[in-house]
Amino acid sequence: MTEHQKTATLLTHVSANPEKYDGVVNVPVHRASTIVFKTYEDYTAKPLPPFVYGRCGTPSSAAFEQAISALEGAAGSVTTCSGLSAIVTAITAFAGSGDHALIPDNVYGPNRNFCQKMLSHCGVEVEFYDPLTSDIGKQFRKNTKVLFIEAPGSLTFEVCDIGAFVKAAKAANVTTVMDNSWGSPLLFKPLEHGIDVSVMSCTKYISGHSDAMLGVVSGTEETYHKVKATAMALGICAGSEELYIGLRGLRTLHVRLKEHESRGLEMARWLEKQPAVKRVLYPPLPGCPGHENWKKYFKGACSTFSIVLHESDKGKYARMLNGLKLFRMGASWGGYESLCLPDQPSASRTATQWTEKGLLLRMHVGFEDIEDLKSDLSEGFKRLAG
Ligand SMILES: *Cc1c(COP(=O)(O)O)cnc(C)c1O
Repeated sequence: MTEHQKTATLLTHVSANPEKYDGVVNVPVHRASTIVFKTYEDYTAKPLPPFVYGRCGTPSSAAFEQAISALEGAAGSVTTCSGLSAIVTAITAFAGSGDHALIPDNVYGPNRNFCQKMLSHCGVEVEFYDPLTSDIGKQFRKNTKVLFIEAPGSLTFEVCDIGAFVKAAKAANVTTVMDNSWGSPLLFKPLEHGIDVSVMSCTKYISGHSDAMLGVVSGTEETYHKVKATAMALGICAGSEELYIGLRGLRTLHVRLKEHESRGLEMARWLEKQPAVKRVLYPPLPGCPGHENWKKYFKGACSTFSIVLHESDKGKYARMLNGLKLFRMGASWGGYESLCLPDQPSASRTATQWTEKGLLLRMHVGFEDIEDLKSDLSEGFKRLAG
């Protein structure tokens, strides 16, 4: 309870500085490329002043990064133009030519694409691993530099044994990088669990309104500076408007997440009872692979999960999807509106096999009336049954 109060208070006031902005509560949008210096001495001072050029940081990025660092317990954070660019920055900071990187087989698709198409071409040996392995250490090699973790994994929501992974990585001097977009970080704080680098797509629950692309990487004393230097070398920075949206989203994150969690649970349990649904892949439910790990490590759940239908006939499930009125088909999640996205994970597995033949639907439960949402899906299941 006290912990909740602390987080709520932090989210409400972190980074706010009304005194600096004539009493205006929110940190203004700083649109900046050029930042001028008064004198030659200022321009050549060491250390440099905090803001020297828009790409390298502004009061807008500093405010958002300070807030994320406080939430994550990080030495520092670096904002980027998207979740994917945050991933790219974090991985390339710690893996280079001749190194070996371990990537989970259930990793976010565009991350897999980056690793296969770009990272491999830069001379990094990319190996995909089974996220449910009980012995990650046996996959470490002499040149393993990065162990990437995503929990729960994209689409199929397996939760790996984060603690065991961290322990093995520490013993082998391997840097752990975790995609914590689902954990937000109110539900899970990677750095507190010994992970070296935490990455989030703030496009999702943090922005919360489906209107911004934003990413962030947070690091420890040992990892942060390398991440910042890599972002600077790659020319990666976030837009000023998006930083404003991200900070505004943080103010209500705890309230929205609580609501998302109760709706997610209600909808997932209801879906479990629907005859058309074969499986519900939602970490709080015992049927989800890695449920025990979720219980061990996470403080709660958001409203993003998947279901697997019995139906594998495209014509039939297209009929179901085409008539949905509230669950719209679209990428992303974490906004105010409900979404469902058809997918087939078997196409993107290399270390493990996805053997379900039925359609997988990635669901995001938004803030519509829950009974309206259920009847939207009920009607859909009727169309599915023909
Ligand atoms: C959406 C997503 C990303 C990428 O974020 P963008 O902001 O869309 O680039 C990364 N990881 C996970 C798990 C995601 O769901």
